[in-house]
Amino acid sequence: MKCYNHHNHDAVGVCKSCLKGICTECATDIGGGITCSDECATNAKDSIALLKSTVASQKDFKKGGGYVAPIFFLLMGLGFIGFSLYKEGFGEFGYLFGGLFTLFGIAIAFLNYRHVKRQR
Ligand SMILES: [Zn+2]
Ligand SMILES: [Zn+2]
Repeated sequence: MKCYNHHNHDAVGVCKSCLKGICTECATDIGGGITCSDECATNAKDSIALLKSTVASQKDFKKGGGYVAPIFFLLMGLGFIGFSLYKEGFGEFGYLFGGLFTLFGIAIAFLNYRHVKRQR
């Protein structure tokens, strides 16, 4: 493949934006790729920025998976309380831990909710 601008130069890469073959003379390193012109450099940087923000928002989405934790604690808490109701002698201990787990679950859910609300 030859350079799009210099037909006697070998292309060293492809413009990130317009996909033309370009030689070392024409290539502009934009970090993460090369482009043939300032215009293409701007376009390519925009798409890289878009890609990065997409990845970042996916990370935030994964953080939203924190909803699993409060549900887990709530279920544990209710499980303990339920177990206490059926099993005598387990009573106070079960209610104490059940209550603590349930409160902990509610607290985490509340914190998550406030965190999400602040971001929007
Ligand atoms: Zn280009
Ligand atoms: Zn060239």
